[in-house]
Amino acid sequence: MKILKNFCVFLLLLVCLFKPYCLFSEEKIPHVKYVFLFIGDGMGKAQREITERYFIVKKLGPTVMNSLPYKSDTTTHSADSDTTDSAAAGTAIACGEKTNNGILGLSADGKPLESVATAAKKNGKKVGIIATSQLNHATPAAFYAHQNSRSEMFEIALEALNSKFDYFAGGGFLACKDKKKNGKDIFALAEENGYKVVVGDHEAFKNLSAPCGKVLVCESKWEAMRPRISRDAENNSPVLADLVRKGILLLDNPNGFFIMCEGSQIDWFCHQNDIAGFISEMIDFDDAVRAAMEFAKRHSEETLVVVTADHETGGLQAINSDAVNPLLADSKKGHSNEFKKALKELSKRKGEKFSLEDCENLLSEKFGLQMRGDPSDTMTLSEGELDVLERCFVAEFKKRENANIKMSQKEMRDNKYETYKKFKRPFVEAVMDCFARRSGARWTRTGHSSQNITTSAYGKGANFFTGKIDNTDIAKILKSMVEN
Ligand SMILES: [Zn+2]
Repeated sequence: MKILKNFCVFLLLLVCLFKPYCLFSEEKIPHVKYVFLFIGDGMGKAQREITERYFIVKKLGPTVMNSLPYKSDTTTHSADSDTTDSAAAGTAIACGEKTNNGILGLSADGKPLESVATAAKKNGKKVGIIATSQLNHATPAAFYAHQNSRSEMFEIALEALNSKFDYFAGGGFLACKDKKKNGKDIFALAEENGYKVVVGDHEAFKNLSAPCGKVLVCESKWEAMRPRISRDAENNSPVLADLVRKGILLLDNPNGFFIMCEGSQIDWFCHQNDIAGFISEMIDFDDAVRAAMEFAKRHSEETLVVVTADHETGGLQAINSDAVNPLLADSKKGHSNEFKKALKELSKRKGEKFSLEDCENLLSEKFGLQMRGDPSDTMTLSEGELDVLERCFVAEFKKRENANIKMSQKEMRDNKYETYKKFKRPFVEAVMDCFARRSGARWTRTGHSSQNITTSAYGKGANFFTGKIDNTDIAKILKSMVEN
């Protein structure tokens, strides 16, 4: 009896080892004709929650991504670290295997891995790769490249052209400007590989229609796409949702398609602890999910939409549900790049005498933060905050970082100044945090964190994205869907 029991436990373990999702469903993973995979780079749970609050305050309705009916808690660690980078996480999501940070499309011991995009292509589907970063950045590259280092930018770009994928759209190619092969740059090589190349030509983009061969669409040759917060009103270049809609139009065929779309710059703004910047990118990203959902609702029997993230960035925490600053994402206000620019000019103008008091107007104008005023007004900086800002100002501009700055017991406990001091721009980060706190948020770092992220899903086979999963399960489930 005991032997039989042990044997049953062994069998159960064996089955679950190969099908981790069997715990949640006995059902066979179905074939899915149309698969959309959205990846918000750096988009943790707090990023999703704070964006949701912003949508409520601005009466934009619920976000599409948080309204998808199935959700799972997703682990993100890489093979060699609790905290993953985008290359290892991208590889896990694309190929279904853990690898070391920095590696693309190879296992930790160097064995080439096949991505869900390549599997889809082999099974007759058309494939689209879309990103607001350059197209050879880590996340999009994880779907077609095999490199020991994510920094091999030209080699990665060449792999994109050799992938035979049908549609690439987004930014240009990073660090490929001066690189040539057989005397040809990456765009000439793309044409040689049969790609119709559209760079920064909005009319040509609009006119792209099916049937057409392989297409490469770049907003510019070497840059990322312009983030939403820096776009001018008269700028009519296609946004992420337009790239998704065009992808659907060009890729639809009787065998279906696989589209990966990354909101790349959510991560970049979170690295800067820029709450207005990341929410602004989340708006674009959610619009792109909406574009896919419009299609998915029309083809709900044969379409799956999955929204996930590679990791969280910034150690963001949602702290107060009623406070959302209406300035957020409305304008360039609260945006770190604009602030840094203005700060640089001011410090140059003031020279040696530059002091925190000189920043009074700037803080008010860029963030609505008041250095003096009614203490009951939430935008008035508290004495404690002013004290921290003063210390951080000294650390950043007077280069006296370790010059006997005595901390009170309370500060030691909060460890606030200690935290900022580790940052490259302590004053900038401290101001960004004062602003974030008034928006119901708190940043705890400028790098990636090891927090779990949320994967949400709609459509055929969406029920496989429930409970707790690992990021490698995403690729395992999706591969079954495009292969069988
Ligand atoms: Zn990332």
